[in-house]
Amino acid sequence: MGKVTGAMLMAQSLKLQGVDYMFGIVGFPVQPIAAAAQEVGIKYIGMRNEQSASYAAQAVGYMTGRPGACLTVSGPGVIHAFAGLANAKENCWPMILIGGASAVSQNGMGAFQEERQVELAAPYCKYSHAVEDPARIPYYVEQAVRHSIYGRPGAVYLDMPDDIIQGEAEESEVVHYPEIPEPPRTQAMPENVEAALDLLETAENPLVITGKGMAWSRAEDEVRDFIEKTQLPFLATPMGKGIMDDDHPLSVGAARSLALQKADVIFLMGARLNWILHFGLPPRFNKDVKIIQLDISAEAIGTNRPTQVPLVGDGKAIMSQVNQALGNRQWFYPADTPWRKAISEKAAENAAMIQPMFDDDSTPTNYYRALKDIVPWIPEDAIIVGEGANTMDIGRTQLQNKRPRERLDAGTYGTMGIGMGFVVAACVANPDRPVVSVSGDSAIGFSGMEIETACRFNLQCKIVVLNNGGIGGGIPELNKDPYKTPPPYLTVGARYDKMMEAFGGFGALVNDPADLPAALEKAMAFDGPALVNVILDPAAGRKPQEFKWHT
Ligand code: ADP
Ligand code: MG
Repeated sequence: MGKVTGAMLMAQSLKLQGVDYMFGIVGFPVQPIAAAAQEVGIKYIGMRNEQSASYAAQAVGYMTGRPGACLTVSGPGVIHAFAGLANAKENCWPMILIGGASAVSQNGMGAFQEERQVELAAPYCKYSHAVEDPARIPYYVEQAVRHSIYGRPGAVYLDMPDDIIQGEAEESEVVHYPEIPEPPRTQAMPENVEAALDLLETAENPLVITGKGMAWSRAEDEVRDFIEKTQLPFLATPMGKGIMDDDHPLSVGAARSLALQKADVIFLMGARLNWILHFGLPPRFNKDVKIIQLDISAEAIGTNRPTQVPLVGDGKAIMSQVNQALGNRQWFYPADTPWRKAISEKAAENAAMIQPMFDDDSTPTNYYRALKDIVPWIPEDAIIVGEGANTMDIGRTQLQNKRPRERLDAGTYGTMGIGMGFVVAACVANPDRPVVSVSGDSAIGFSGMEIETACRFNLQCKIVVLNNGGIGGGIPELNKDPYKTPPPYLTVGARYDKMMEAFGGFGALVNDPADLPAALEKAMAFDGPALVNVILDPAAGRKPQEFKWHT
């Protein structure tokens, strides 16, 4: 036995702990880690900005159940990746950031890119540590990976100084830790399970809300069993979409506001009553609504609104417990109730309201008309990334998810800039499946340079840019004086498709919606990344009354 470098120990430990993907940008002092990662069989994806790399690492974590690694240079590289740490923390997604750092021997001396990285990472992380001895790398990696996926998942940080990366340990003295198993699944108190069912049986207007915690927990089979047995109406959160098929007849997605407002008992599963769910408070919720709350985090119970029945533990484990308890009851929510009728009437009313926009073939087009062609074009097994303001909000309502963990968007943190990082992650973790991104034009700008990454790896990503020339819409022509142009406005008709062509992908520009299906077909048929740039009416919006045909 001989000596082994810190870089190699880092790569070996990550591999051993089931970390199969590393996204990063190399330079001082982390280049040897990336090279070692490739040597041990970790897929290394060189990106163009650390933000995107950090977004990619967490998306892989969410999709695969094992954290993705993000590797950055010291100082500014680490700081750029904090965007991803914060996003991972807010989404409760696992990732491991490995930041290069200046040599310990130069601490405090004003070293190149010297920064207090461990302290700065701490508020975003469940675990933030510097490695002080190459021989202890396996220990720290095991701890970091464990923290990222056990309990409520989240971000972790390891600081790797130059002299640790280049330092060596006696191979015979290094202790390797076995791969940590999948997170243990914990069940709820049996009496609480019964209490939850008792409460549901009293409900007149019951509602199930499925959140991305259930997707993370891979509870889809148990949730489907439960909903089909109880016949309860359900609503998915933005990334809780697909735990149940969006098309399922019990989905109340098309009458979301009414369902939230009038529900008297809500079974909240792996979702938080934060801004996305209007804090669970009036006027968006019934002031007397009773909440059954399932969450792995005990601290989350009762946040913003008292919980009548807490179910603390793992989503999959608890739902199988609930299903078992249900088996003794033979209870289900009846087919013919005023609540179901109210929901389906509201859904029909909403559908009628947006129909004129689907039917409007004028040029330039609007969101709904564009989505009319985009929705049926998306393959069944596609992973869908959504980013933007209207593009993402309207996209959420129209783009259908049939399976869990197949929708990635700005999420809990509302982050613009996740787009191409998530696209790259979805492609590399699912090489046999198409990845479709529907993005706003402002949104794609945050991560557009990763189009080069997508082309370099020839990823099967199909990007549609709904281009309204600005942040939430532009104006047909820019003011001659750019300093007088209103702040949200960007270049009208900007050629994002040419960016894709520039790096070797397929690009198409669509001005007239009549040309959209053909452009989409060509993009899908192309072997590699493609971008369809759809010019929208800068005034197109979400609310029907804002549309010109209503006024
Ligand atoms: P959404 O955006 O879909 O509403 P949130 O991110 O707000 O979802 O909430 C997800 C919740 O799921 C978090 O409170 C988190 O603690 C919880 N969670 C994470 N893992 C599990 C698990 N294995 N079982 C149950 N709940 C979980
Ligand atoms: Mg825009």
